[in-house]
Amino acid sequence: MTTQSTQSSVSRRKFLKLSSALPLGAAALPGMAGSAFAAQQSRGGGGRAGADAGPAVGYIDTPANVTLLNINEFPSGPTPAAVDIMHKMATSGNRYYMGETRQFSADIAAYHGVKPNNVTLYAGSSEPLQFTTMAFTSPTRSFVTADPSYENGANTAAAGGAKVYKIPLKADYTHDIKAMAAADPNAGLFYICNPNNPTGVPIKRSEIEWLLGNKPAGSVVLVDEAYIHFSDADSVIDLVAKDKDLVVIRTFSKIYAMGGLRFGYAVGRPDLLAKLHVYGINFMATTAVQCAKVQLNDKQLIPTRKQLIADNRNRTLDFLTKQGYTVTPSQTNCFMVDVKRPGRTVAAALAHQNVVIGRSWAVWPNSVRVSVGSAADMAAFQTAFVAAMAMPPEKMSQLVHPYPHLLEEQVC
Ligand code: PLP
Repeated sequence: MTTQSTQSSVSRRKFLKLSSALPLGAAALPGMAGSAFAAQQSRGGGGRAGADAGPAVGYIDTPANVTLLNINEFPSGPTPAAVDIMHKMATSGNRYYMGETRQFSADIAAYHGVKPNNVTLYAGSSEPLQFTTMAFTSPTRSFVTADPSYENGANTAAAGGAKVYKIPLKADYTHDIKAMAAADPNAGLFYICNPNNPTGVPIKRSEIEWLLGNKPAGSVVLVDEAYIHFSDADSVIDLVAKDKDLVVIRTFSKIYAMGGLRFGYAVGRPDLLAKLHVYGINFMATTAVQCAKVQLNDKQLIPTRKQLIADNRNRTLDFLTKQGYTVTPSQTNCFMVDVKRPGRTVAAALAHQNVVIGRSWAVWPNSVRVSVGSAADMAAFQTAFVAAMAMPPEKMSQLVHPYPHLLEEQVC
């Protein structure tokens, strides 16, 4: 059992306790000002209009009209063609469709120019991230990561007794690859999130190539390409065909809008993947396989969604810069903003304005992560940000976040 899964079962328990205590009226949510909720209602759905008409099934723990910019979700669902095939697949939910899953795995390998045995499918990329960490770290082989970066692997490594080396990002927010390579001669795994979560800043392919050529013997490089489709970063999947000590993970949770549907995969040398398989291989949800297939074959999807997120992100970054805040030069659907006061207090103040943003990292306590949503979501963010930042810091620091369970989720 990893730290992550322990953490999420703890937050699930707290969340169930919280939700079971709630009457159905959203005005009764803890800390939620009834007037703010009423105002959102009267705006006809607030930040969730436009590209995202709001949740198909109401959230058990959050009013539907709260703008969610906290866990890097895509602001709308899969394409209509993908939703259509999932409806059809649902009626055959009794069947495993193993042949179709195997074929799609081979199609993905061909899409990346690698062999079928270089790819293993998973329900998202969390499992291959955790399994790779478990396979290549131990009390004698450490985990090396940038700081700030996505913490899932570091938490898993620590839970397994491995030492974790967190190497600060450089002043230009890029990875300090040389310092990472030199962190520990007994390193087991180097985690490179490209582009990085939470900054959205990419890593040059030449830097990853340098690491592969200069890392300690016996170590492996894990490149997490969860956000690569939003960016101009170069993938390193083709290096798998060159037999490098490399595992690359991909997810359909971000640009393909399948966070709740669960589809991802690992690409690596068969001997490296075999070490992940020790921790389990499961059947894939047939709805998710078909949804991913339709969307992978949709040639318009990536350019259209990349542009949409870039427009909404760049408009928001311009707004924040003009307001005098420093932002990370993100190429993805999230960025960090230095709010010049404890980030968690700003997150609480925004949540009181019905805009829920992400977390702060210990290394950058005065910055917060903001996910990029629809144009309406980002307009709601701007309005809420102006209102929140008008509050004196002392007053802001007394606010209690109205949705603490959303802050506890450390997994996205
Ligand atoms: N990797 C990164 C960098 C992420 O940000 C996330 C989630 O947000 C994941 C992996 C895991 O996501 P999933 O399991 O939905 O693929």
